[in-house]
Amino acid sequence: MKETELIQIALMLTPPWKVAECQFDVNQKRLDIYLDFAKGSRFSCPDCGRADCTVHDTDQKSWRHLNFFQHETYMYARVPRIKCSNCGVRVVNVPWAREGSGFTLLFEAYIMLLAPSMPVKRIAEMVTEHDTRLWRLVQHHVNEARDEADYSDVKQVGIDETSSKSGHNYVTLVVDLEESKTIFATEGKDNATIGRFKDDLIDHGGNPEAIDDVSCDMSPAFIKGIKENLPNAQITFDKFHIIKTLNEAVDEVRRQEQKGQPELKNTRYIFLKNPENLTSKQSNLLEDLKLKDLNLKTMRAYQLRLNFQEVWLLPPDQAEPFLKKWYYWATHSRLEPMKKAAYTIKEHWDGVLNWFKSKISNGILEGINSLVQAAKARARGYRTNDYLIAMIYLITGKLQFNLPS
Ligand SMILES: [Zn+2]
Repeated sequence: MKETELIQIALMLTPPWKVAECQFDVNQKRLDIYLDFAKGSRFSCPDCGRADCTVHDTDQKSWRHLNFFQHETYMYARVPRIKCSNCGVRVVNVPWAREGSGFTLLFEAYIMLLAPSMPVKRIAEMVTEHDTRLWRLVQHHVNEARDEADYSDVKQVGIDETSSKSGHNYVTLVVDLEESKTIFATEGKDNATIGRFKDDLIDHGGNPEAIDDVSCDMSPAFIKGIKENLPNAQITFDKFHIIKTLNEAVDEVRRQEQKGQPELKNTRYIFLKNPENLTSKQSNLLEDLKLKDLNLKTMRAYQLRLNFQEVWLLPPDQAEPFLKKWYYWATHSRLEPMKKAAYTIKEHWDGVLNWFKSKISNGILEGINSLVQAAKARARGYRTNDYLIAMIYLITGKLQFNLPS
């Protein structure tokens, strides 16, 4: 068997395409494959599918292909433009590459296989390409797969922001809580992000009025955006974020008290955790503090926070009476930060109690967010938010890519 035939089979080329010539350069570590078609061949129209169109002229093109062992491999062909009686002059589709790409589909599939777990910059170094070329490739396939995505069944979503660059730069994520996948990502964390989600949902066959439940934090921007754009959505305030609000209040009490109470040095993380999650060293320190009976404000604040968490363990009918009792206790605690947190929670009462019906939280989003942040750390950040958003969809969007395997 001639080497051209072997390569023709390996490339799965079908007539009229064939391998005309191969040049193998050991010193340059390079394999060049020249493809061609027989004179008089006819092609089908890329637009209307009409078969047997005659060739009008050709245009010389090249593509980077998968390496042949350690050798960089390129393919070359004169790509015909055909004359279609319906559509006029059109460039034909070649089976090994998509129009406008300088890579073969198999090379693209290889990059897409690596991209979720390896920074694009590292892949670019490995295959000796510019990373901007590879980013364009990744974005193309993510966009194409997202164009095809069907979100007509979405009913419960979680919304949260993730930090995109250092400083105050955010991307908002909308996650389908039933399917555990990101269905929308956009710059910013204001109410307009929800409006953009609504438009995108409609573009993907979804219905904003069919969204029954949304889990999010108590940020006024999200609440406003949800009310404006998802008219039938019940908001459930995410447990994790409510606890965070209380934790910040406990920490504020501790910081104020620490000034006059040296015993509280280095206790910050103790009061941010639940007792069962403390290390044995932290646990001993907490016990010591209790034994000293210093009547610490921090201890009372901590107790208020721990007490609040009990609400999620109660039967639904006991939740509201419990919250009312807790609210009374917190607002009479003479601990200003705790009072403030209690007022905030009171204002969002319905969304706290909605949990007993919806049972949703942003737990799935926390998982998705940690995947996103891990990718961001591996890549040492992304040059643009568009790159970050493409990566979010690639890693957490459960998209179907139309690529050869
Ligand atoms: Zn045509």
